[in-house]
Amino acid sequence: MQSTKTLLTDFMEQLSVAPTSALLLDYDGTLAPFQMDRNRAYPYPGVVEIVESIIQSGRTRVIVVTGRPIRELRALLPPMSNLEVWGEHGLDHLLADGTYQQTAIAPEITEVLAQAERWLNQADLMPLAEIKKAGLAVHWRGLSEAEIGRVQARTMEGWARLAEQPGIKLLRFEGGLELRSARPNKGDAVATIVEELDSNTRIAFLGDDLTDEDAFRVLGDRGLSVLVRAEYRETKANVWLKPPQELLGFLTQWLNSISV
Ligand SMILES: [Mg+2]
Repeated sequence: MQSTKTLLTDFMEQLSVAPTSALLLDYDGTLAPFQMDRNRAYPYPGVVEIVESIIQSGRTRVIVVTGRPIRELRALLPPMSNLEVWGEHGLDHLLADGTYQQTAIAPEITEVLAQAERWLNQADLMPLAEIKKAGLAVHWRGLSEAEIGRVQARTMEGWARLAEQPGIKLLRFEGGLELRSARPNKGDAVATIVEELDSNTRIAFLGDDLTDEDAFRVLGDRGLSVLVRAEYRETKANVWLKPPQELLGFLTQWLNSISV
């Protein structure tokens, strides 16, 4: 098995000679540290500048693939020209030229989510809830261990029947639970992106969370998948980087590789 260092060195060499490249980035936990207040989860210092330079090079298509709705992401990032974003795990798509596309959600899914929202209301959990187009999240970052245990158990019980409905998925993420439309997931978003790319485009996907594993799996041998996380966990990614230092190192190397 190749070491992380060899894999990265080889990848950067290939990048320097590739005619085009695509840098796919998760946001929370990858480009930005988690915050008690998720509306204040700004990127690590230095990240925006490097990503902007990578975009400006004109040699890399930079795409953020996030579980957040696009409007939330835009509130956390300075305006960047030519930044492409897939929001809500691939449901919303903001193209580099500023045009916006949205995938329709089946009425059955919307109905299940409406029931889930009614339950949250009755359970007095709305202060912890985030309502998205294709999902509902309960966030418990900042609560005590005991409170987290209680909220998690109650929500899982309250949503158990709904989570079994076809086309619906209950997923755990760092700091909460989300009941959402099973598709699209980040893997679907990555599949769509990869299909559009030329076969000699070098690709990397960076992510931290369990929802990023779908993206790692879909990318497979077609690109480099990178787990960005303070602690290692079982993953399909090829490489593990600790943020922020190793992340900044990776992005800087990327910029240098495409600038030669
Ligand atoms: Mg993340």
